[in-house]
Parts: sequence; structure tokens; C-alpha cells
Amino acid sequence: MLNLSLKQLSQNLNDKTFSSLELTEFFLSRIKKYNKQLNAFITIDESSSLSMAKMADDKISKGEHKPLTGIPIAQKDIFCAEGWRTTCGSKMLENFIAPYNATVIQNFNDIDAVNLGKTNMDEFAMGSSNETSYFGSVKNPWNLDCVPGGSSGGSASAVAARLAPAATGTDTGGSIRQPASLCGFTGLKPTYGLVSRYGMIAFASSLDQAGPMAPSAEDCAMLLNSMASHDHKDSTSIDHKKEDYTTNLNHPIQGLKIGIPKEFFGDGLNASVQKIIEEALDKYKKLGAELVDISLPNSDLAIPVYYVIAPAEASSNLSRYDGVRYGYRTKEYDDLMDMYFKTRQEGFGEEVKRRILIGTYVLSAGYYDAYYLKAQKIRRLISNDFKQAFKKCDVIMGPSAPSVAFGSGEKKEDPLAMYLQDIYTISTNLAGLPAMSIPAGLSNNLPVGLQLIGNYFEEGRLLNIAHQFQLSSDWHLKIPEGIS
Ligand code: GLN
Repeated sequence: MLNLSLKQLSQNLNDKTFSSLELTEFFLSRIKKYNKQLNAFITIDESSSLSMAKMADDKISKGEHKPLTGIPIAQKDIFCAEGWRTTCGSKMLENFIAPYNATVIQNFNDIDAVNLGKTNMDEFAMGSSNETSYFGSVKNPWNLDCVPGGSSGGSASAVAARLAPAATGTDTGGSIRQPASLCGFTGLKPTYGLVSRYGMIAFASSLDQAGPMAPSAEDCAMLLNSMASHDHKDSTSIDHKKEDYTTNLNHPIQGLKIGIPKEFFGDGLNASVQKIIEEALDKYKKLGAELVDISLPNSDLAIPVYYVIAPAEASSNLSRYDGVRYGYRTKEYDDLMDMYFKTRQEGFGEEVKRRILIGTYVLSAGYYDAYYLKAQKIRRLISNDFKQAFKKCDVIMGPSAPSVAFGSGEKKEDPLAMYLQDIYTISTNLAGLPAMSIPAGLSNNLPVGLQLIGNYFEEGRLLNIAHQFQLSSDWHLKIPEGIS
């Protein structure tokens, strides 16, 4: 069960080689064995998971089997799941039991997939190392002294150590792709609006997007089939024609034009990461693709722009945590104002407070035009760079992250160094484009991810291009030593 793809798991369930109950028990026992070391899960609810598995087995025995029916999936703790504790990695929501399902969770429930548990994450998805979680940092199974990346670090650690066959994540500036890169599996951030944000706790609403995290592109295609849906409950959800992302995986990629942005290969890129990326690009050439030099001239502005826009939106989204409606409330206070202050002072961690301060500053009268408005204008320029680039190529490739997994604590006290982790991922969020990270090699026994960026709604094509690479490489199947 450990190394089977989602397709194989599904076939085995359908053939009754094993039941969903057995499969779910298998992964729950792995979680029991490894979670102490990895801290990948915040909440496990065995009885809920097992009763979902029984329901799935019931459906399978009646012949009502859908592709992911009975498959246990780890859910990032940013998604509300009815009856489950949903913390978003924060003390603020430590005891919050979600009263309804996020659309992503509902979509999985509708096909009787099993909720395997809620995964650890950076507080309110702010971070690149999973060290800002109120529930403790997550370890990278490839090296327990290293971070798994963030903010979807719990999902990443769980997939890498095969504590779950697949997981969900969210990506506001790189939080699916960077941990996928650092933990050695496949992660996809879809086009903005393809997957509903309803019930997904908001960080920066114009950037947040949920996506699949799993060993292979084929697995991600199966997951995306369930995750993508038009949703009237999310006003930014796009009415895109329903696609089956598994159908084009085997298309040949002869003649594919791969754009190589020169800005992704400059200072700051670790030399051994660069070498592995170049080897992967060579492999694509052997598969019949052509490399084209391109430029994304405003790339260096992506991080500064993001760190104006994302905190601005976050400061607004997080104003709801006031101790009145739901979530944490301070124990002792003098009056209403005092209650607000103490609640937010005690309920939020340091990084979240930093973002709220930046956000309220850039939105305040007198600074709005200089920072927020300016950032929005540059955001448009960044999107235009991609528009120009896609006139010359079909897909853009480069590194997902500038380095392999770094040591725990190494960047914790240096927010600017931490922010640089997303230097290659953030511009696609600003433009709303789909992008993925696939395992491309190991450096010092730590994974390196290759990033693929597509044009709007070209998830199917990206998955096809990734799948072709994975047909002739086995980096995505590697499991960290010591985890078996
Ligand atoms: N690391 C980035 C941040 O801290 C992106 C996080 C994300 O994608 N959720 O904001």
C-alpha cells in the first residue's frame, strides 16, 4: 500500500484486494508511528476517518465506486471540515470546530474519499518553513534537522514520509510548490479561481489558491479532478468547463517550447540546485522539447509587491478574529477595547502580527497611493511579462526554490531571508497562473524541485508535461531513508 499510486490504490479498492478500512488503518498506523518525530498532523480523528472508510467500502460494494472513493487524503488545516477541529495553525482557532465544509472538503466527501486528518501549517499560511505554527514546527523526513518548507509543511512532510498517499495544500506565494520542492514530490497550484476558496481560511484573497500534493503528476491530476469546481459560494470562482485532467497525460511533447527565464538563474540560486535543474531541462530536450530564452523583466519586484499586497489583504481578513465572534478570547480584561487588544495580542503569533502591521500601514491614508496602489500597478506589469513570454513558448521552467531544505531555526529570526524562499514562485500567484513543482533530483540527499509554469487554465498541459518527465525518471518515487 505504501508505494501504490492513487490509480493503483483505486484499482485495488475496486477489485477488493483490500478495503478502504484496511487502507485507512494502514495510514493511521503510519501516522501513529511517525507523527511524534515529524509533527505533520495537528488533528487526527480515527473514529471519523474509519467511519468514512466504512461508508466508502459500502459504496464500493454497491458498485458505486468513483476514482478516489475510499482513498485517505490528508487535509491542510486551513480547510473547514464539518465537526473537525480547524486551527489554521493558530492559537486563535485552537479550539474551533468547523460548523460546515469547505467546498474542497465537500467535493472529496461527495465521492467518498476519506479525511485522514488535518495537517500542520504555518500560522494562517504565513511562512516558508512551517516554523510559525502554534502547534510546533514540522520536520522534513529527508533530514529531521531541516524544515519541510511552508506553509503547507505538514501536508508536505506527510506525503514525503507516506503518512498519506496524497494531501491538499494552499499556495498564496509558493506554499504548495516550495514544500513540494523541499520534500521531493509533486505539487500543483492551479489557475486562480479554478478551485473554490469557500471555507478555506483566508490569508490574501486575491492570491490564495488550493491545490493537490502527491507523489506524481498522475496523482495530482486525479486529485484536481475533484478539487476543481465552479462554486457560487465563492465570487472569484470561475465557471470553467469541467475537465478530466487525466486524459491528456500521455500526449507526446515533441516540439514543446520551454521558456527559460534568465531572471530565474541569477544570483541567489544555489549552484547544485542549478545543476540539477539544467539536467532536468536536458532531459526535456531528449524528450523532444526545445529550450527558448525568455525574460521576465519585473521578476525582482515580485517579492516587494507581494509583501505589500498579501499583508494588506491579510490585515483585512484577520480583523474578524476579535474575540467576539469565534475563536480565542483573552481570559481577563477591563473593557471591550482591552478585550480586543489582549485577544489579538495573545492569539496571534509574531509573524502574523508583523503582517498585520505591514498591511495596515500600507493601506493607511497617506501611504495607500505610495505603497498599495503602486504595488497593484506593478502586479499588472508582472502579469504582462508572462503574457509576452507565452508568445514565445508553451511552458516556462526553472527552479521552484533557490535552495534545498535549510536547517530548522536557520532563517527563523531573519524574515527577509525567509521571504526570499519564494522568489521563483510568487510572481505566478500575482499573475494568477498555474504552476507546479516536480522532483528533479537530490543534492546532498535532499530533494530539488523543477518548476513548470503554464498559461491560464493549462493545468492539463502542465500535468501532461510533468507526467512525461516522470515516465522516464523515478525521483518522484523516492522515499526518505529511515522511513519505510
Ligand atoms: N511564504 C509566503 C508567505 O509567507 C507564501 C505563503 C503561502 O503561499 N501561503 O507569505
